[in-house]
This record gives sequence, structure tokens and C-alpha cells, in this order.
Amino acid sequence: MFFVRSKEQIQCPCCDGDLKVIGSRQRKYINDTGERVVLVIRRMRCIKCRKIHHELPDILVPYKRYGRESLEVVLSEGVKLSVAADESTLKRWKNWFSKMADYFNGCLKSISIRYGSESVEDISDFPESKLQRIRHYVGDAPGWLGRVVRPIVNLNLWVHTRSAFLA
Ligand SMILES: [Zn+2]
Repeated sequence: MFFVRSKEQIQCPCCDGDLKVIGSRQRKYINDTGERVVLVIRRMRCIKCRKIHHELPDILVPYKRYGRESLEVVLSEGVKLSVAADESTLKRWKNWFSKMADYFNGCLKSISIRYGSESVEDISDFPESKLQRIRHYVGDAPGWLGRVVRPIVNLNLWVHTRSAFLA
């Protein structure tokens, strides 16, 4: 069992208020060698709007049973696969990502505009893949998927695929 403690001070994704630790809960995930790992994640309450949030460790993607690293390897174009998941799972991730890519892209774009780092040139005319467009914002070094997930989650913009597309 691993206890998750993030070093950064996280603010409430809804109102930017301070979060207070009020307990913990277990979160299971499957790592890149196919091993089941139990994490203990802190439960926090915003002292301003009273909403409850759970700390998201860097190794996870919300609602995904496998670790971020496994998804990242599968979603990276041209990277040799070494993931302990079956074919249908891999296919599901790819479908998920291709459905979500435009949304992620839009989020990352508005986040970078919001924080003033959007480049002047408009990249939308370039014949790039969805992945390449996303990597325009987060780079392609290992951990890129985490750099997609974290800012979107922290601004409360993460959507559950099931509620977003099967409603
Ligand atoms: Zn709040």
C-alpha cells in the first residue's frame, strides 16, 4: 500500500479555495507490469465551497484502472508497446483518446491563453495529428499525459467519458 502526498499546495478546482484534509480513501490501479497496486489517497474538503475532492497522484488518470504510464505508452505514436493489458483494453484507450483529443486540445488552448503563454501563430491550419497538436502544449517527454491531465483536472474541466458521450 502506498500513501500519496503531493508536495504542491492544491487549491479547490471549483473556487480556488484552500483544501483541508479530512480523511483518505483507497484507490486501486494496475501498473505497467500488470500488478495491482493500492494507493491511499487523501480526501479533502474546500473550506470555502465545502466541496470534496480527492488528491490525484501523477501516476493516475481519473476513472482509469491502469496507470498513466501505461496509457501514455499506448497512446504515443510509434512507441513500442510493453503494456500488460489485453488487446481490447488497448483499443478502448485509443478510442477514448481520439474522442477526447479535441476536448483536451481546447482545454489546453484556453488554459494557455488564460495564462498568457499561447503563441501568436495559429497552429490549427497545420496538418498535424490530434496527438501532435496536444503535444504542442505539453511536449513529448515522458509524462506528457500527466501534463494534459493535471491542469484540466485542477480547473475542474475533466469529464467522464461515459457521461459526456453516452448521455
Ligand atoms: Zn471550493
